[in-house]
Amino acid sequence: MHYSVSMRPLVLNSLFAALTSLPGVGPKLELLYAKLLEREQPRVIDLLLHLPSGAIDRRARPKLNEVLPGQVVTVDVTVLEHRPSPPNRPRAPYRIVTGDDTDATLTLTFFHARKDYLEKLLPVGEKRYVSGTAEIYDGMLQMVHPDRVVDEKGFADLPLVEPVYPLTEGLGHGLVRRAMDGAVSKLPDLPEWQDEAWVARERMPTFADALRQLHRPHEPHDIVPEGPSWTRLAYDELLAGQLALALVRAHMRRQSGRGSSSEGHLRAKILKALPYALTHSQQQAVNDIINDLALPQRMLRLLQGDVGSGKTVVALVAAAAVIEAGRQAAFMAPTEILARQHLKTIEPLAEAAGIRVAILTGRERGSGRKEILDRLVLGDIDLLIGTHALFQEDVAFHDLALAVVDEQHRFGVHQRLALTQKGDAVDVLVLTATPIPRTLVLSYFGDMDISELREKPAGRQPIDTRTIALSRVEEVEDAVGRAISEGKRAYWVCPLVEESEKIDLAAAEERYAELRKRFGKSVDLVHGKMKGAEKDAAMERFSTGKTQLLVATTVIEVGVDVPEATIMVIEHAERFGLAQLHQLRGRVGRGSGQSTCLLIYKAPLGETAKARLAILRETEDGFRIAEEDLRLRGEGDVLGTRQSGSPGFQVARIEIHGKYLGAARDDAALVLNRDSALASERGQALRHLLYLFGKDEAIKLIRAG
Ligand code: ADP
Ligand code: MG
Repeated sequence: MHYSVSMRPLVLNSLFAALTSLPGVGPKLELLYAKLLEREQPRVIDLLLHLPSGAIDRRARPKLNEVLPGQVVTVDVTVLEHRPSPPNRPRAPYRIVTGDDTDATLTLTFFHARKDYLEKLLPVGEKRYVSGTAEIYDGMLQMVHPDRVVDEKGFADLPLVEPVYPLTEGLGHGLVRRAMDGAVSKLPDLPEWQDEAWVARERMPTFADALRQLHRPHEPHDIVPEGPSWTRLAYDELLAGQLALALVRAHMRRQSGRGSSSEGHLRAKILKALPYALTHSQQQAVNDIINDLALPQRMLRLLQGDVGSGKTVVALVAAAAVIEAGRQAAFMAPTEILARQHLKTIEPLAEAAGIRVAILTGRERGSGRKEILDRLVLGDIDLLIGTHALFQEDVAFHDLALAVVDEQHRFGVHQRLALTQKGDAVDVLVLTATPIPRTLVLSYFGDMDISELREKPAGRQPIDTRTIALSRVEEVEDAVGRAISEGKRAYWVCPLVEESEKIDLAAAEERYAELRKRFGKSVDLVHGKMKGAEKDAAMERFSTGKTQLLVATTVIEVGVDVPEATIMVIEHAERFGLAQLHQLRGRVGRGSGQSTCLLIYKAPLGETAKARLAILRETEDGFRIAEEDLRLRGEGDVLGTRQSGSPGFQVARIEIHGKYLGAARDDAALVLNRDSALASERGQALRHLLYLFGKDEAIKLIRAG
């Protein structure tokens, strides 16, 4: 078959259909799936890649006299007697007594039951298979609301090992399993894109078989991430990622860059306007970047530095270099708050150097937006700061030379490409605050050059980190009260409740109300549900010192910079991941004042939570923390159970499958070496893979012909 350069293979159509193509999924449920799968219009493939987090094993088939209370069992029983709730007590349960050839009985108990329904489901004298958890109640063996009741025929189809999925409010297991069943039956025959010899040697299932196995397991063991099915999918995902990165790199290399050389006038002005001197590693990073920019090849550089290490100013100096050469720079942040904050930091420095700066986010609209776009295309703006609004199609630069992307792991390859395509061979500088271990760098960014900011700016004092039980929260409030009366500033971060933003917010609001009652107007609140302008206003009040105690949900996690803040209280610290706690703590200790971080936890702590908090007390070294984080996750802590994979992945878990990354990269390089246009039989098959894992943008980069 012949493919046009970038058309999706037709055989994938059923997998790329909307979820509403599945039995039982209408527009209402589609919305819930959008939330569950974290994707606006989820497709069948997105559901298929939503892997189980566990399984219920219904294979235990004891006789009634052998049933252990608390165990999930499937028993075959004969219905002996119905005992409807007495007419005067309609709230009392409806009971059905069953028995088998032992002398034990099992009472099935139903609340709010409909008589006619139960009479049909469990007719007296008939044999039924019943599955669920039995308990002893009132001295009788009982099962309240059995999970399954089927007859002989139904039993033949009853999965005795049932996958359990991460869920979201309103979307229960019954619904998800039914949709999943529909999705699995839509799996087409796909060509094998992995190396056939490798597949045979490792006895890897095919992509489709792996999915079937994971969603219709025969034993609980079938669905563990280390097992062959999950591993197959993870390797597929890693290969897709590496292939896409390799295609992007090859494409970028073909477009040779243009050197932007500068004598450093602007840079000198900026440095002069800074109230501090650059650290040694900032200086080193600046040199690396200036050298890269002057070369005709394109720059692809990662600036990796722990929170508070001072990446922003390095990025600004880089921008100054291309601006001095008469070109433009873009600086993209993951959130509105951060974009505004970058603007605030950068504006005075830019002014000192005569650099014209503007901001573009979702909030600039109408004539204001139009004016920015007009000036941008004319070259009257030198540096444009913004959010992903910078990718929008009508945003056109006069001559974009450098794209700085902050907190890149939140953006995909797709978005990175969108920005770099707005200029001619754009140089790329990626800033990441999360110190990423080498394996992760490779998987997210491919082979980029790396500059590291290893030291903190001079004059910083270590943060005094302590753990305190929730039962002593009042003492913490007292201490925070004393501190703000001395003019200090503090954050109070409220817990993250995975399942529900609503509860999340309620907790923060409650704490806010209480602190407000005690400390009055100096207390303020910021959370993710607030409108952009409200959020900014709250941040502004805090950063100017109008308010001194800022209660927040995790919206402040990334990048917020208020150097005067010296106290960080994190409530329910045990619910946060290690990296997240480190990021949060990094919001203080940014000035020369002594800072304190109070981690409030709810006792008793599990082993992993205990270890996490201990590491935080012990060190501020982000690299060490990142490594410990991987290690702890590897030991079975399921952080972020919402996604089946590590951040940035759908199914691969770096701590488990990271070891295949090198192989995937070599494999991708080998394939492209032999077949740079993905035209061979395996190349064509690999195109399917790229589509399945959402990396098909890269296909467009394949040189035609
Ligand atoms: P991050 O790397 O987390 O993005 P920022 O760029 O926000 O860090 O910098 C953190 C704080 O440190 C800012 O207030 C910034 O002004 C300050 N800073 C940056 N470089 C230095 C330096 N060399 N000496 C002193 N303070 C610095
Ligand atoms: Mg930053």
